[in-house]
Amino acid sequence: MINQRLINIIAKIRQAEISYNRQVGDVLLLAVSKTKTAQDIAQAYSAGQRHFGENYYQEALIKQQELGAYDITWHFIGPIQSNKTKVIASHFAWVHSVDSLKIATRLSEQRPLSMPPLNICLQVNISGEKTKSGIALGDLAELCGLVATLPNIKLRGVMAVPEPEDDFERQRQPFHTLYQAVKKLNLLQLDTFSFGMSGDLNAAIAEGATIVRIGTALFGQR
Ligand SMILES: *Cc1c(COP(=O)(O)O)cnc(C)c1O
Repeated sequence: MINQRLINIIAKIRQAEISYNRQVGDVLLLAVSKTKTAQDIAQAYSAGQRHFGENYYQEALIKQQELGAYDITWHFIGPIQSNKTKVIASHFAWVHSVDSLKIATRLSEQRPLSMPPLNICLQVNISGEKTKSGIALGDLAELCGLVATLPNIKLRGVMAVPEPEDDFERQRQPFHTLYQAVKKLNLLQLDTFSFGMSGDLNAAIAEGATIVRIGTALFGQR
């Protein structure tokens, strides 16, 4: 089941890359395994999936232990409380949900020197919803400048979770706005656009996504 879904999603990604004039292979599939079991992850792994995303660090750590023998690249994509940065800095290769200088600084300070620099994305609140985490687009340039100077972390790009929207053209809009804003910053190290989920995958790829974060379409309803 997970095997077949994985094949379908990868086919959909490759098709979207072709349809929207992206380089084939440009878009990385991040399998979002929150609330799913280590066994589910192992199934996707057997089918070739290597990048997995988790929202809750406690849940993630248990699965990481169970799957210690697997060559998995773990991404943290959930909200970050500042007293949890230490464990996050030492158990993940990527953090997509950085939304303040304070969190970025702590991740940098707490990243073990024995590990490669932590890849991070700044989460941008692209729909302007008050309830969602992420920085305002207007604050992106300044925060990028500050975060880029921190040691032990590598600023890779931006992440966004726009308001759910059914219409394809309307799905594209926030991604388009964010992509253009990042390109205008003209910072060469920013090579990552982490946007697109099960419901807006095509719109995200059309607008420049390099990592799509897919949960439901791969693992089923949560
Ligand atoms: C749960 C989650 C996803 C996956 O969403 P689906 O709609 O299940 O594909 C992606 N990104 C973040 C930040 C999430 O919390």
